[in-house]
Amino acid sequence: MAGRLKLHVIASGSKGNASIVEDGATGRCVLVDCGVTKRALLAGCEASAIDPARIEAVLVTHDHSDHVKGLPVAYRGMAKLGCHPDLFVNDAVFAAVPKMTEAAELCCRHGMEHGDALSVAGMDVQVFPTSHDAVWSCGFRFECEGDALGFMTDSGVVTPEAHEALSDVRILALESNHDLDMLENGSYPYQLKVRVRSDRGHLSNVQAARELSELVSDRLEQVVSMHVSQNNNTYRLPVDTLEGVVVTMGADVHVQTGYQSQPIDVM
Ligand SMILES: [Zn+2]
Ligand SMILES: [Zn+2]
Repeated sequence: MAGRLKLHVIASGSKGNASIVEDGATGRCVLVDCGVTKRALLAGCEASAIDPARIEAVLVTHDHSDHVKGLPVAYRGMAKLGCHPDLFVNDAVFAAVPKMTEAAELCCRHGMEHGDALSVAGMDVQVFPTSHDAVWSCGFRFECEGDALGFMTDSGVVTPEAHEALSDVRILALESNHDLDMLENGSYPYQLKVRVRSDRGHLSNVQAARELSELVSDRLEQVVSMHVSQNNNTYRLPVDTLEGVVVTMGADVHVQTGYQSQPIDVM
């Protein structure tokens, strides 16, 4: 059963990230991260039937370039369309990405801290800490008229705050970055392998499955595997792994994956 919130994953993975959370009743939208080109962003909007002018805010999870590199150009492009979405970004993240000042000059910038409860585009947004090797990082819980959506990528472990915030949602977007064997036997340099699997790296398929087993609820309908590695994973593995959890628990939950360069809509 479709709910009030919709998730549009425009791009997800280490080459670039951008997702849109939409209030399906009002059409008001929030963009989470912008690590893609303006062209990819606008193509994603078109594929999801979203007029970019409906994007009222941009929320930034952390300072890594795959999440922020498209921001200045996207803001210039959106400004040409007459829209200037509010930018929500932690001060340390803002300071760490000098190019973000270009975007901030075209809009109203707001600080953001863990534990904040924001009101954005008619949605209530809770900001929770993730565990990642960034200057600062977070995930989000969106609520709107009784519907709830949890969004977490780029976290080596699930923090207690994240676990709480991701509980009892209808749509869950959860990082399922790598398969441990593929990472171990893959081509990444040793240091990068250590980084990816560390507590401040990325969530593996197994970790995502373990977390999902604790998040299955009567309310949960949709799960999306996010930030899936193109080197150390396949698009099939996280879906199979997470579906395994759902089947074992006898739950009625649809599992799908976000892609690096093919937008998906989750309702
Ligand atoms: Zn990332
Ligand atoms: Zn990152």
